[in-house]
Amino acid sequence: MVNARLGTGLWPHLVHSLKPASRRHCLLCESIGQEALCADCLHDLPWNAHHCQRCALPLPAGAGLCARCAEQPPRQSSAIAPLRYEFPVDHLVAGLKYHRHLENAPLLGQLLLDAVKAQGAPDLLLPVPLHDQRLAERGYNQALEIARPLARHFQRPLEVRLLERKRATAAQMTLDAASRARNPRGAFRLNAARLARLGPLHSVAVIDDVMTTGATLAEIAGLLASAGIADIRFWVVARTP
Ligand SMILES: [Zn+2]
Ligand SMILES: [Zn+2]
Repeated sequence: MVNARLGTGLWPHLVHSLKPASRRHCLLCESIGQEALCADCLHDLPWNAHHCQRCALPLPAGAGLCARCAEQPPRQSSAIAPLRYEFPVDHLVAGLKYHRHLENAPLLGQLLLDAVKAQGAPDLLLPVPLHDQRLAERGYNQALEIARPLARHFQRPLEVRLLERKRATAAQMTLDAASRARNPRGAFRLNAARLARLGPLHSVAVIDDVMTTGATLAEIAGLLASAGIADIRFWVVARTP
């Protein structure tokens, strides 16, 4: 007999929590196993094995910096993106962002965590914020959801008030490269009162799902650098080539 007071909204969660934790479907091929991805699907992901140390652009093996970063060093001290933004990573990210597949977030967060673990803990983790209006439409910020396993591992705060988005920018993927580079300019600001409250910061990891041209992250890095933060790291799940 169902207890009516539970309300139907609780059922998906309840049913999920009653499933044995040891059995689940691979998020990509649906084969039954114990992890979010089966070993084959994990192996076949488009790993961004060799990339620019400063902007995570995929590079041939052996190259440390891309031509652009070598010519004009960016504000961030490092960038890590474990995956290239290709199938099926684009599918997992789009599922999280546009189709409420929140179960993809712990997987993407764990893949990112595995890649950045060796860097050690920054002072705080800064998920790239959504504009309030988009946050209200979507109901969650995918960058924040991806960052949760990293905050747990590093035992560092997930900072959601320091960086504010001033206006909604057009979705990056719908714009051509020149427009994408222009698009985020002036889109963010640092909350000065929050910054003062946090005290001196040495290192900040900026976390996002996808890095395209890097213009959004570059603007954030500029703001953080002007606030005196020396070690700015980009931690993103996937990088477009
Ligand atoms: Zn699989
Ligand atoms: Zn680079």
